Parts: sequence; C-alpha cells; structure tokens
Amino acid sequence: MTEKIPGGVTMEKLVSLSQRRGFIFQSSEIYGGLSSCWDYGPLGVELKRNVKQAWWRAVVQGRDDMVGLDASILMHPQTWAASGHLEQFTDPLVECKSCHQRFRPDQVLVGPVYAQDKGFLGYASGVNKEEYDKSWQELLNKNPKRGGTASRMFRAELQEPKTLHDFLDKKSEIPCPFCNAIGQFTDPRLFNLMFKTFMGPTEEEANVVYLRPETAQGIFVNFQNVLNTTRRRLPFGIAQLGKAFRNEISTGNFIFRSREFEQMEIEYFVRPETADKWFDYWVEERRNWYLNLGIREDNLRLRPHGEEELAHYARKCYDIDYNFPMGWSELEGVANRGDYDLAQHARHSGKEMTYFDEDSGEHIIPYIIEPSAGVDRSVLAFLCDAYDEEIAQGELRVVLHLHPSLAPYKVAVLPLSKKENLAKAAREVYADLRQCWMVHYDDTQSIGRRYRRQDEVGTPYCVTVDFQSLEDSQVTIRERDSMNQIRVPIATLKETLTAKLAGEDLFVLPEGGKIWKEEGK
Ligand code: ATP
Repeated sequence: MTEKIPGGVTMEKLVSLSQRRGFIFQSSEIYGGLSSCWDYGPLGVELKRNVKQAWWRAVVQGRDDMVGLDASILMHPQTWAASGHLEQFTDPLVECKSCHQRFRPDQVLVGPVYAQDKGFLGYASGVNKEEYDKSWQELLNKNPKRGGTASRMFRAELQEPKTLHDFLDKKSEIPCPFCNAIGQFTDPRLFNLMFKTFMGPTEEEANVVYLRPETAQGIFVNFQNVLNTTRRRLPFGIAQLGKAFRNEISTGNFIFRSREFEQMEIEYFVRPETADKWFDYWVEERRNWYLNLGIREDNLRLRPHGEEELAHYARKCYDIDYNFPMGWSELEGVANRGDYDLAQHARHSGKEMTYFDEDSGEHIIPYIIEPSAGVDRSVLAFLCDAYDEEIAQGELRVVLHLHPSLAPYKVAVLPLSKKENLAKAAREVYADLRQCWMVHYDDTQSIGRRYRRQDEVGTPYCVTVDFQSLEDSQVTIRERDSMNQIRVPIATLKETLTAKLAGEDLFVLPEGGKIWKEEGK
C-alpha cells in the first residue's frame, strides 16, 4: 500500500535531488560557481540525451516531411542585423555609479532584484515578497491573458513607458540594492543580450562575432542549401538541436532560465495561404509530444499572445506553458513568423530566398511556422512532473515516475548478495542487458535501500538475482511504479523487458510464446 504525500515537488527538492544523485551541478562549483550556468552529471546527461532523442525521433526520424541540420554557433555578423537581434534583442538597464552593478529599472522599483553577475539579490528596497506577489497579482488581474513568470511580466510591462518614467521620477531616491548608495543610478540604456566575442587574433570592432542567441537563424540562412540538396516540396521542415547563449539579466529558477542553454527548433515552410492550418497543427502536435512522454494534462496549458506581446517577427504566437513550482511559465513557443526571416535575409544578403512552385510556375517566399522548445526547460518540466513522495510500507519513498524512454537507466541489476557465484551470474545478466540499454549494477546495502535508490532516479525496472536464480535460471523483475514483482526466466528476460519498456504488460515464455498479464494471472 502506498499513500501519496500531497504538494510533493518544490524547486529546492529538485535542486537537492539533482545535486545529490548527479543529475545537475552548478558550473565551476569549486571556484564558487558561475552564475546561471549548469553542468549535467552522469544521470542528467542521460536524461537530457533521451529528451533530445525523443524529440529528434518524433520530428525528424518519424516523418517524411522533415530533415535535420547542425549549423555552427558562430555566424556571419550580418545574420544578426538581418534577424533584428542587433537592434531589438535588448533590455533597458541602469548602472549604479558607485558599485557599477547593472539592474533592470523595473526591478529596482518594484521587483525581485538580480545583478548581472551575482544572481538574485533580494527584493527592491521597501518591498517585501508579499507586497511584490500582490502587485504581480494586480498586474495579472489587469491582463489575465498575459500570465507567465514574474520576470516575463515585468519585461512586457517595461515596454510601457510608465515604468521608465516612474524610474526617472524617483531616480534620486532609489537606493542601490547591492551597495545601498542612494540616487546613484544612470539613466536607462539599452543593453544587448547577445554575447560578443572576436574572431581572429585582434580584438577590433571589425572582428566582432556573436554567440548565437537562437538556433533558428542557422536554419534560415541554409534554406536554399537544404532545398537544393534535398529537392523538397512545400510543406517541409528543418529541425535543429543546439546550444544558444543569452546574457540574460533575470536568470534563476534553476535551469529554467540560464545564460547557456540548448534549443530544439523546427522551421516549417508552408504556402502562405496554408499557414493558419499548419500553425494549429504544430501547436497540437507539440502539445501531444509532452503528453505522450508522460506530462500530466492539467500541468500544460496553451497561452495565445495578445497583439501587444507579439515579437516583431511574429504574426501569431502561442506559448505552451507548464505549471512549474514557481508558477505557469513558457516551455515552448509556437509562432507564425510569416515571410519575415527569408525576406530579411534576402534583403541583407542579396541572395534569392524563394521557392519555385512547379504547379503554378511562381516563385514564392514561404511562410514559416516555428515550434521552438528549450531542452533544459523540458528536462525541468519532466523532472517536476515525475517527482513524487509517497509513504510505502511505512517509509518515505521519493520516486521519479519518468517515462521509460526518458529514464537515465532503464534497468538496474541487483544481486542479492556479493557472494562470488551470485555476483558472476548477476554480472552475466548485466553484460547481456547492457547491449540494449543503459543499465546500472548495484551490490551495496540492503535490497530495500537499493530499490529506493533506483526509484529516486526513475529506473523503471530492477532485476534481482538471488540464490534461487542459480538453480532455476529465473530472476525477479521489480517494477518502479507499482512495486510489483514477477519472476521470469533469464532466457527471456531481454524480450520481457523490451516489451515492458515499450508499454506492453506481458511475460515472454522460454519456448518463445507470449502471455499477456491479464491472461497469465
Ligand atoms: P523567456 O521569455 O521565458 O526567456 P523567450 O520567449 O525569450 O523565453 P524564445 O526566444 O521563444 O524564449 O526561445 C524559445 C525557447 O527556448 C523557450 O520556450 C525556452 O524553452 C528556451 N529558452 C529561451 N531562453 C532561455 C534561457 N535563458 N534559458 C533556458 N531556456 C531558454
């Protein structure tokens, strides 16, 4: 009998589990850490690879209208002039003349304050958390459609001149949240969120290049290359997975918003008159991807962007939001980008960016539907959704109910004792299963403890090898979620686990037949 403990998951618990079990570590921890950069440990790297693989399988391998791409992170600087990032990818910042920390003006007025390289500092002077939450709630009530995290809210709010005017009015009284100097702020200046670096041996403005802030532009600039080499017809899409970098001011919430992260982006090229249909299609397709991988339906919502919130390139945009512990926040955005990107790159490069439609004999600029997801945010959402605390047999059990295709280890092999003959048999089972999956071998501490350790990292099946196994060539499979145990022949263990990992609840008989669980009972 198990009993669920309500309200289980918090960000603190996830951070602690991630650190303790080797999912995610703070970057450069031995030097005090580098703010909002994260390292994926032995279990985290498996989970992350599985997320990326599940995405690639769904959007490239499983479809005949999609191809993949892996463009370089450094791109010609003109790319960012054409895309609008040089001009528009900015936040207004103010600098304290005393300590030289920079802040967003809205934050020193009303919000939680983040310094550029120090992370979260606390709440603006004279504001406590309750007041802040209340003012945020008031903003939400004013415009219920907006939703999103506090920082997104205030970033949107910043577009309205009122915040900047308020800041300028009160500038002489506002204390610096870092050094407490009063009235030392500069006027707001636009700060570009792209990381700049230099190409070649001299650090001159002429050699400036940027770390890409999104993977999408690598796809747009390769549109003609892909078209010419694959002879695709509309509609078709190009998918890309890769690192992106943003010098974000408001980082935080663990891996939710960091400065180096990975994106999974699709650019789907369509005839302009079919764009609405394909937009709806991709919103549904992407939402289902999360549901099929086990995300609970009531933790997902679709949030259309209002006119005032649309990015400069977008005609229509929906966020797929997840109910994270800090509140509903964007997991993935789906946008109809129209012909903006191809037209911009054609203008800036002087190259043709059109598609020749053989049926009509016309050259057209396709419209683009873009489902753009974050790998790290997906990892966080899958972890949050899977995390559960239960009382099982009178003890606390922490369990990650991860979908089997995402779980870092699919199987753990546990010999009941370290005795040599048993260890030899268990090692043989282990070696055999490793040919198919990531498998863990654990022979330390009691079997109960070992089951709990595997539950906590989401391993769907444990295979226990005991002394009886030496006589009857059978082992016990113990299932993570139900904690049920069944005994199966070693000869058919791989087939039984294959079926179970694919969601089929059956036994495979030694003579080759299969029995469905219901019939076999
Ligand atoms: P936000 O406003 O929440 O920072 P955004 O609207 O700027 O996100 P997009 O530019 O649409 O995000 O990027 C697409 C996806 O990339 C997001 O849905 C998110 O999953 C991911 N992403 C964007 N910025 C970050 C970041 N700083 N850290 C982690 N993931 C990010």
